[in-house]
Order: sequence, then structure tokens, then C-alpha cells
Amino acid sequence: MNPDFPISLEFFPPKTPEGVTKLAAVRQQLYALDPLFCSVTYGAGGSTQDGTLQAVQAILDEGRQGASHFTCIGATRDSVREKLALFQGMGLKRIVALRGDLPSGYGGFGEFRYASDLVAFIRAETGDHFHIEVAAYPETHPQARSPQADLQAYAAKVKAGASGAVTQFFFNADAYFRFVDETRALGADIPVVPGIMPITNASGILRFADNCGADVPRWVRLRLQSFGDDSASIKAFGLDVVTALCERLRTQGVPGLHFYTMNQSATVLEICRRLGLA
Ligand code: FAD
Repeated sequence: MNPDFPISLEFFPPKTPEGVTKLAAVRQQLYALDPLFCSVTYGAGGSTQDGTLQAVQAILDEGRQGASHFTCIGATRDSVREKLALFQGMGLKRIVALRGDLPSGYGGFGEFRYASDLVAFIRAETGDHFHIEVAAYPETHPQARSPQADLQAYAAKVKAGASGAVTQFFFNADAYFRFVDETRALGADIPVVPGIMPITNASGILRFADNCGADVPRWVRLRLQSFGDDSASIKAFGLDVVTALCERLRTQGVPGLHFYTMNQSATVLEICRRLGLA
């Protein structure tokens, strides 16, 4: 790992035994980047719980630093306490603490309303044991009352004890830098690592961006749509766009990069090779 410019990687828990085997191979390829940590997402309401824990355990067994995402929607204090004990028993030192989204059919939020409540609870229960990452939204969380309210909500997570933040993916570097300036002015002074989404598939990235409120610039959207089924052109264009974004972020001093790998290695490796990080 380059200590001055760490890279971290995010995976999701596979649903099938074949997926587990494939992900193990993907991780081995990506370990060439010597990541600071590898995190595994967690279905809101605990829906992927077992798969998440298995993938995190595999990362720890491979001698790497693992991080479990952890959503509090629908959780109780007792269920969170139980899970924290499990994490500590596994030797886990990092948590990405999130609210999550209410799954359809869910009655209510449970005993935690916001991620800041979860962060405060983890700190109260386990002191400094965990390095806690929280989510940051340079382009504003889609359900926020206002951009200002969202900045305050982020600052509340930092005040509650977050150690670092990873952003939602974005293509507008200016939004990231403004977010960092504005939250620092609110006293939220923790490292904010940009979350980077490689582009490998046009409809996938456009749908995903719409769902999570990430803006895909018009020129990028139009170009992607113009390639139709030509996946080679989509990948080549996507590599150029995302590498240029990473280059700008790095030149302007971001504390590292967090890649949403989508359980694939090739594109992340190529971006890092172009950045001179592989
Ligand atoms: P919060 O920080 O609680 O914010 C949620 C909303 O509430 C925001 O609109 C905020 O402005 C508002 N808010 C917060 N506090 C207050 C307050 N005191 N008063 C009024 N409004 C308030 N989802 C998963 O299900 N599993 C994952 O593994 C996962 N990993 C993620 C990783 C990253 C890096 C990111 C960026 C997102 C991830 N998500 C994941 C998605 C996340 O769960 C959703 O974006 C969710 O809607 C918000 O979670 P949060 O932790 O940001 O919530």
C-alpha cells in the first residue's frame, strides 16, 4: 500500500457458491493494489447478513484488513449490541455505519432513526475499538430536506464519532471539493474518501445513478447512450472518464480512493495502472 495514497475496495456478498469462488479470485487479483481495507456491503434489514459476514471473514483469513458495512434500519439496541460482539469476536476493527433504506414491507425504522444514532451507539458500547466510516453525499442525499440539512446531518455523524467518510459515487469533482469545504466549515474534519464507480455498462450506471441521486453529466450520458450495444466502446470511454476524474481528485489532494468494484477486477486494475498506482 502507498501510505500517502491508500486505496480501498468494496464488494457485495455473492448469492451463490459459484459467486463466492469467483469473488475469491477477484480479490486475489485486486490484492495486487495492496488495499488499505476491503469492505463488504450489508443488505438493509440484515438481508445479506450471512453472506456479508462470510465474505468479511474470508478477507480477514486472507490476512487483509476487512470492514463490514452495517445498516441500522429496523434494528434494535439489543440486535446491534449482539452484532458488535460478533464483529469483535471475528477480530474486525472497521465498520461502515449506515442507516440503509427501508425495504418494502418493513413496518418502521426500528430503534435507530439515522446513521448518526448508530455511530453514537457504537462509540458508547465499544469505545475506540472500531474505525467507523460513514457515508457522505457530495451531491446531496436524495431524501434530504435540503442540501444544508444534509450537510448538518453529515456533521452530526462526525460529531457522534465517525473516523472517516466514503462518498457516494459522483462524476462532478467540484461537488466533492465544495462538500469538503462546507463540512469543514461546520467542524466536520475527518478524511472524506471519494467513492469511485467504474463505468462498464451504460444502462447499469445510468439506472444506478438515478436511483442514488448521482448526476451523470449530459455529455457522458449522451455518449454512453450513443454507443448502443458496443460494449468495447462503452468500456474504453468509461475508463477514460473515470481515470480523468481520479487523476483530478488525486492532483487536488484527496486522501485516497475507494472503488466500488462490483465484484470485478479488470476495470479497477486498469484505472489504477493508468494512475500509476498498480
Ligand atoms: P443518514 O446519514 O442517516 O442519512 C439519511 C437521510 O436522513 C439523509 O437524507 C439525511 O439528510 C437525513 N438525516 C440524517 N440525520 C438527520 C436528522 N437528524 N434530521 C433530519 N434528517 C436527517 N446501503 C445498504 O443498504 N447497504 C450498504 O452496505 C450500503 N453501503 C453504502 C456505502 C456508501 C459509501 C454509501 C455512500 C452508501 C451506502 N449505502 C448502503 C446506501 C445508504 O444506506 C443509503 O444512501 C441510505 O439512504 C442512507 O444511509 P446513510 O447512512 O447515509 O443515512
